[in-house]
Amino acid sequence: MELDTFRSALDSWLDENEAALTDPLGGSATLDDHMAHLSTVKRLAYDAGFMRWGWPERVGGLGGSPLLRAYLGDALTSRDLVKPGIYSMTEVLAPTMIDYAEPELAATMVPRLLRGDETWCQGFSEPGTGSNLASLSCRATRAGDAWRVNGQKVWTSLAQYAARCVLLTRTGTPDSAHKGITALFVDMDSPGIVVRPIETMHGSPEFSEVFFDDVEVPLDRTLGEEGQGWAVAMDLLPYERSTALWQRAAFLGGRLQRLLETVPGGAVDPVMLGEAAQLLYALRARSRSTLRRLAAGEHLGPETSIDKVLVATAEQSVFDLVADGLGADLLVGDDPISDRWRQEFLYSRAATIYGGTGEIQRNIIARRLLDLGSDR
Ligand SMILES: Cc1cc2nc3c(=O)[nH]c(=O)nc-3n(C[C@H](O)[C@H](O)[C@H](O)COP(=O)(O)OP(=O)(O)OC[C@H]3O[C@@H](n4cnc5c(N)ncnc54)[C@H](O)[C@@H]3O)c2cc1C
Repeated sequence: MELDTFRSALDSWLDENEAALTDPLGGSATLDDHMAHLSTVKRLAYDAGFMRWGWPERVGGLGGSPLLRAYLGDALTSRDLVKPGIYSMTEVLAPTMIDYAEPELAATMVPRLLRGDETWCQGFSEPGTGSNLASLSCRATRAGDAWRVNGQKVWTSLAQYAARCVLLTRTGTPDSAHKGITALFVDMDSPGIVVRPIETMHGSPEFSEVFFDDVEVPLDRTLGEEGQGWAVAMDLLPYERSTALWQRAAFLGGRLQRLLETVPGGAVDPVMLGEAAQLLYALRARSRSTLRRLAAGEHLGPETSIDKVLVATAEQSVFDLVADGLGADLLVGDDPISDRWRQEFLYSRAATIYGGTGEIQRNIIARRLLDLGSDR
């Protein structure tokens, strides 16, 4: 399907079904409510076909360009029908699963994620391993027809809701670095997994600690080959920085617009407004070209670190403007609207951490794109 045809069909469908797609709890919804509502929206969009366009037919999709998926995320977030962070997990995890899982496994599992029957999580970070991902120590050892996993992950977004986890494990020697990592697709209800949610500073338990104690994972749940986990991780990160970032930019544009409508007379600092607007524009332009490259079948790589720096900078700039414009309401406003702005402001501080920190992205840009030397 052509993008223009998809857009007009989707826009009409969204107009006609707005009531069913809008979260009835609005500003007072909890994370549980947002997750339940996300499942409803995905199910409705899947049944109407929109959630299937842009995904390969072999995993229940209807084919077509990833631009179709990007526009769906854009429309759902701009219309405030889903929360961008929780919606984006599909864009982050499904493409790599499709690239690396056994075809039958992908054909069974991906439709469940697209249809909103399941949530998945990403088990990469550990208490001693974040930026230096290659040093991870959660161990998987061979035990007959299965892997046996022992260790801990942390900051695992939505783990308490997840039915599956894309998990990075150490299968080589402790010092095998990126060569000794294997990716597994783990059922979160396997015996030996304990999930402990962590409350974020914006008051929502969006991520968790996850403990693995002798957890058995069948060998056919290996993503790629043994020792190929680093390639899986490197495949996933650019997806996190393409379609998912496009819809985050749409969300930021919507919130900037809402701020101008909220502040009396639109009286915000004009210099800060100009800066936020130009950063958002740069993000949209950059993200558009990344999406076009993805749609043309190009391999995305370290250059997507530029997109990550831009989204983090734009997000913090927009919410600095929110703080300036709303003043005391942002700090102490005791109503659902102020509460939402406050949560979003606090969450924006994480933009330079999640998905790779600002410092690490700048290191990658310096070393891998600009050839400005190494650590040593
Ligand atoms: C909202 C949110 C959601 C997240 N969701 C997930 C998830 O679903 N799954 C998952 O696996 N992880 C998730 N994370 C974790 C995230 O990927 C890590 O927090 C991030 O990679 C940084 O790792 P760290 O926290 O261990 O910090 P560290 O790596 O310990 O870094 C601490 C500080 O040191 C700086 N630093 C480190 N090394 C260098 C260097 N070589 N040069 C310059 N500066 C350096 C960093 O930039 C940072 O400022 C999430 C994090 C957040 C905030």
